[in-house]
Formats: sequence, structure tokens, C-alpha cells
Amino acid sequence: MTDTLVNPHAVRAAACSAPLAAWWDANARDFPWRFGRTTPWGVLLSEVMSQQTPMQRVLPYWRDWMRRWPTPAALAEATPAEVITAWGSLGYPRRALRMRECAIAVRDTYGGELPHTYDELVALPGVGDYTASAVMSFAFGKRIVVIDTNIRRVLSRAVDGAESRGGGATARDRRLAQDCLPEDAAQSVVWNQAVMELGAVVCTAGSPRCGECPVADVCAFLAAGRPGLGEKRTRPRQRFAGTDRQVRGIVLNALRNADGHRLPYGSIESLWPDGAQLDACIASLDDDGLVVIGPDHSVALPG
Ligand code: SF4
Repeated sequence: MTDTLVNPHAVRAAACSAPLAAWWDANARDFPWRFGRTTPWGVLLSEVMSQQTPMQRVLPYWRDWMRRWPTPAALAEATPAEVITAWGSLGYPRRALRMRECAIAVRDTYGGELPHTYDELVALPGVGDYTASAVMSFAFGKRIVVIDTNIRRVLSRAVDGAESRGGGATARDRRLAQDCLPEDAAQSVVWNQAVMELGAVVCTAGSPRCGECPVADVCAFLAAGRPGLGEKRTRPRQRFAGTDRQVRGIVLNALRNADGHRLPYGSIESLWPDGAQLDACIASLDDDGLVVIGPDHSVALPG
């Protein structure tokens, strides 16, 4: 408690806490994995799917996966081809294979129930620090720091008064998030969700809507005149058109539409004009376990 009183970050975060919680109550987007309406498995799936992908776009995929494979045991029975196909255009399709491996590990090691500790969760295939922390907080109601890009940006601005410049989470980001986290477990869950949501819909990277923000009165960044707004440490994102990511997506999409059949090299060849890039992309998909290449160079989803 003494720390809370002398730590300026904790003091400012405490001032944000009540208005933010009220804003969350009134404005949180109504996704089916929120408000205790799904299983811990459903929460995990939503977190994995929404990395790199806006939640609104995740929604139909999440519903489809939960209908087809409502439990880890159900997903563990699916084939790699089925999960890659069901991943559709969510991007970064290795995540689909990792989710299946995760489901198999949960079935075989934990009797089909997600484990309840951070250390066990983070040891599962495809589950990193963010996802393990998010499941501990959002599904199990534990007091734990959750750090994603949105949370880092909001805390850096509102509490520290500085622009968040991207790149990986630093020790300073972690200390700041730790300083700000409410002591009470239930409040910490609301805090994590509300800060993340604020970063997604109000305190956005390029154009924060400070006029609609529930913490504008206490925001250190706004008070300082929003210095360095939008400045980034990282390089601008690579364009998608023409990238290997695009080519890999085109190949996978053709295979998804092939109803489980192999595609002869002749039809694969017509998918992309740069043959060398196409071959390199097919080889990298093979390395990632997302396709199998036949002796005749035909390509298929893994069986
Ligand atoms: S006042 Fe503006 S900069 Fe501060 S937290 Fe709100 S939206 Fe972000």
C-alpha cells in the first residue's frame, strides 16, 4: 500500500481505474468469448486468433471452430488439412497447426482441461507469454500482468505521458504494467480488458480520440500536448502485395478449394508469375508443415 501511495504510476493508474471500469461496462464490444460466456478453451482460441487480426474479423472463424471443435479433445481429432482449411484467410496459418498440437497436448497431458497455471499454459504449443497471461486473467480471473501492443500504448501514454514507439515489450513496459495493475484480482481482470479495449477502439496508434476518452482528465500524454504522437521505433510495415506472405496465402487458398485433392504442379505453376518465388514459398510451406510435396511435385494439404 505504501508503494501505491509513493509510486506516481500507481497513483495515476488508480485515478484511471474507476472511469475506465465504467467505460468498459457501458462500451465493451459484445464478443461471445467475453463476460464468462465461453470455456477457457474458447478464450484461448479467441486470443490466438486475434493476434495480428482484428476481433471483428476473427468472430466468424471463432464461431465455426467452436461449433466444429468445442473442446481440445475434439480438435485433437481433426486432421492438419481440416484445421488449415478452417483457418481460412486469418493469416499466419501456422497458428492453426499449433492450436491442433496444443489441443493434443491438453488432451494427452491434462485430460482435456486447460491447466490453471501460467507455467503450464506457457509450455503448451503455440502459447506464448501474452496468451498464457490473457487466459489466466480473462478465463481464470487471476491477477496477472497482460501486455499486448494496445495495453503498452495506453499505459505509456495515459500513465507515463510518452508515446509508445513499438518494438518488443521492454522491462520498463513490464514494470509500468505491474505498477498499474490493481491489487484486487477482480479489478485487475477488468483493468486488463478495459485498457486493452481502450487501445483498440479509442486510444489508437495513429489518431487517438481523446475527446471521447474516459481517462482524458488524468491522461499525462494529453496534458503534455501529445508529444511525438505516432512516432515509431520500428520500420513501417512491409507492403503485402508481392510478398512471400501473399504468395503463401494464394497457394494455401488454392489447396483449401481443392476439396482434399492434390494439385498437380502444372496448376500450382499458374498461380504466380515468378516461378522462383513460388517454389521458395512452397518449400517454406513444406518446412512449416502446412503442405506436403509429392515426388511428382504435386502439392497437397497434410493428411
Ligand atoms: S486521452 Fe487520448 S492519449 Fe490519453 S489515453 Fe485517452 S485517447 Fe489515449
